Amino acid sequence: MKLCLPRLEISLSDIRENTRLLVDLYGKKGISLMGVSKATLGNPSIAEAMVQGGVAFIADSRLENIKRMKRSGLRCPFVLLRSALSQAEEIATWVDISLQTELEILKKISHFAQIRHQQHQVILMVEMGDLREGILLGDLPSVVQQVLGLPHLKLVGIGCNLACQGGIKPDYHNMHDLSQCVKDLERNFQIHLGIISGGNSANYNWYQSGSEVGRINNLRLGESILLGRESVNRTVIPGLHTHAFQLVAEVIEAKFKPSLPWGEVGQDAFGQVPVVRDRGFCQRSIIALGRQDVLVSGLQSPAALEILGSSSDHLVLHSAQQTLQVGDEVPFNLDYGGLLAAMTSPFIQKQFVHQSRHPDSVDGEFDRAMVYVPIAAV
Ligand SMILES: *Cc1c(COP(=O)(O)O)cnc(C)c1O
Repeated sequence: MKLCLPRLEISLSDIRENTRLLVDLYGKKGISLMGVSKATLGNPSIAEAMVQGGVAFIADSRLENIKRMKRSGLRCPFVLLRSALSQAEEIATWVDISLQTELEILKKISHFAQIRHQQHQVILMVEMGDLREGILLGDLPSVVQQVLGLPHLKLVGIGCNLACQGGIKPDYHNMHDLSQCVKDLERNFQIHLGIISGGNSANYNWYQSGSEVGRINNLRLGESILLGRESVNRTVIPGLHTHAFQLVAEVIEAKFKPSLPWGEVGQDAFGQVPVVRDRGFCQRSIIALGRQDVLVSGLQSPAALEILGSSSDHLVLHSAQQTLQVGDEVPFNLDYGGLLAAMTSPFIQKQFVHQSRHPDSVDGEFDRAMVYVPIAAV
């Protein structure tokens, strides 16, 4: 099969192994995992790798992605992370469990679930301080009461989301408050809440700190599974692969040039006035990759190369030790924003590889020596 450029190389075995390690780690204290597939646009093969790795659910923020995975034949409970009133009918049709904060939406989903003679399962999200989605603790009893009164909804759990909007870290206090809230609801309403979903990839340090997990028995993980990191400080979780996704692009110009531009300075292509450091005469290479393809700030170049700048279609590299040639392939590692943009870009081919690149092996050699075994185009 032809290898395209630029391409996003995806190692399913890395993703499967990351999932397995996280399932085992969190499983030690009874915490199940939802594999969050939204950064991969609900790619069915990637979601399947997560299921093979042991996640109990696949969660996505987009209905379109859930439909795509279900249509591909993947079997597991699907969780919708973000709902809208306008999607109530489709949610009742396609989704097993959804995270919810608004009664209006819940009533409408219940209405469509009734028409379909079904029960839709609901996890109510509680506001724990990050100020993105969540019902304020004081309003929760009244919402729970009303949800329990809707016969085509089944309240299966509660959850919270931190470290996304306000940057608030999951810690002993907010996780304890969520556990306490579960106990109060169960006592006051004589119900059992089965899924207590305490957060996302930002919950790693809380978990590792040795705090009691209390009633928390589920986490929703995207970044940790895909990129091998927790998301508060972006440190690597020991044992996880961090190179499951690599963006490979092509050198289209490689020349030695002065490092300072000459002529009168005005704005660049994006309205900035560039400030350039003089490094003397050095190798500059242009990669056929630009801001229309990716989030350039989300790319990490190999150690011997430095990203000097980018415009719509060009990325300029400074190479101190490594001499690049026209036609060479250069691999870039990605952060979450970079992955999101690369997965979404129609200009970047997604290709599965058997073996991910070892982070140390790419620095000296680039691609003349690399052997790929692509499985299939995504
Ligand atoms: C995206 C998302 C997640 C996954 O977050 P990661 O940081 O990738 O683990 C979890 N929960 C909700 C509600 C989300 O929107």
